[in-house]
Amino acid sequence: MSVRVRIAPSPTGNLHIGTARTAVFNWLFARAQGGKFLLRIEDTDLERSKPEFTENILDGLKWLGMEWDEGPFYQSQRMEMYREKIQELLDKGSAYRAYETPDELNEMRQKQQARKEAPRYNNQHRKLTDEQIEVFEAEGRQAVIRFKIDDEREIKWNDLVRGHVSWKGQDLGGDMVVARAASKGDVGQPLYNFVVVVDDADMAISHVIRGEDHVGNTPKQILLYEAMGMKVPEFAHTPLILNESGAKLSKRDGVTSVDDFKQMGFTAAGLVNYMTLLGWSAPDAQELFTLEEAAKLFTFDRVNKAGAKFDWDKLDWVNSQYLHEQPADELLPMLMPYWNEAGYSFDETADKDWLMPLTAMVAPSLTRLKDCVELGHFFATPTLEFSDKAKEQLRGEGVADAMQAVVEALKDSQINEPDDAKGVINRVTKAQGVKKGLMMRSLRAALMGDMQGPDLVESWVILHKRGFDQQRLEKAVEIAKAQSL
Ligand code: GLU
Repeated sequence: MSVRVRIAPSPTGNLHIGTARTAVFNWLFARAQGGKFLLRIEDTDLERSKPEFTENILDGLKWLGMEWDEGPFYQSQRMEMYREKIQELLDKGSAYRAYETPDELNEMRQKQQARKEAPRYNNQHRKLTDEQIEVFEAEGRQAVIRFKIDDEREIKWNDLVRGHVSWKGQDLGGDMVVARAASKGDVGQPLYNFVVVVDDADMAISHVIRGEDHVGNTPKQILLYEAMGMKVPEFAHTPLILNESGAKLSKRDGVTSVDDFKQMGFTAAGLVNYMTLLGWSAPDAQELFTLEEAAKLFTFDRVNKAGAKFDWDKLDWVNSQYLHEQPADELLPMLMPYWNEAGYSFDETADKDWLMPLTAMVAPSLTRLKDCVELGHFFATPTLEFSDKAKEQLRGEGVADAMQAVVEALKDSQINEPDDAKGVINRVTKAQGVKKGLMMRSLRAALMGDMQGPDLVESWVILHKRGFDQQRLEKAVEIAKAQSL
């Protein structure tokens, strides 16, 4: 059997992290099996579907590296086929028109609740006479199309994640609505549970891999496949993503869309790697891999049944591993938007000679891309505010002279490499007869305006290339001297 899977997002919001994770599992399975991964946009809900959400979904999937082999297919362009299939069900007598008003359905539900029964449609319009139908239509009522569900049926499937699953027909809520707003002589608007079956069959989907929240739809869909004489695919219901307190990850957790994670400074490679670990584990507990590498190891028997807890520390760790390994020429364009947004006037092309060493220097300290802002601020403006600690350092004994000696040394030295900086430090330390530690701490205070920050020698090279070191040192001498007066 050739494997064909799909991700079928509804464009009623930006690409959701749960949808993206489902896409990851579909993608991995398709690649693992040498199959195809399809993209279908489920935009039948015309009021809530928006083109900008579709765009966001396509961009998000591409950004994460999950290119699809076929599609995108748009359900809104396939309405005629769904309508024909509804008509076929009506013709076969597997479906019928039901005319209850919302109020009547509400009353039915309330009575059931009063009797302590589970709410369900009682199938009362299954056998309306032509006269009854005429009366309803003359009243101007719009029908829904209901598909007959046999209460006595037991529906079973062998879920690739959850194992044997079985549902009773009587627990499916009565005859199901497959289309609504059906005016006289029309089949109305086909609904999700119906169109998904028509599409999955039409697109020859072999495995339906989707979130556990769809488990309750599967028995209904299996009955529809059967009624339409279509082959029932395999099903895999993947565990939900839970927040730290064990509830379904939702808007209340502040981050829901892939865009949110992107803005927080996660890389596509890091995020997609972390998503593979949300509910799945590799046989040898390997945790870092590209999608291609994970695909070689992916099987459903290693997907958990239990919900997958979202672990921010783990995501940070995975992301940091990618950032630490990223070559500077690839990392630089990823950092630029954060530096720009922080208002640093760095020019990716014109400033390359110092931006590249800056990028290489900050890379091992990054957990999220936006951490570059804090590290970059040392290099953003010619002068900096000196922190109290830095001032205190500069006011130490012998520091003013030592810093003045560095200013002098700079007049005939270029600091183009870390070794140049080390040479100046050694010469001045010796000539001034100061301790190396004092020299290093004072230089840090002078050049960086603070006692903490990135590597001093590498920073100096960058500051020198920017032409900032001389003036910072001169300012430091001023501060040091003001104290010694
Ligand atoms: N449009 C559905 C969703 O976004 C797809 C469900 C399915 O995969 O069948 O949840």
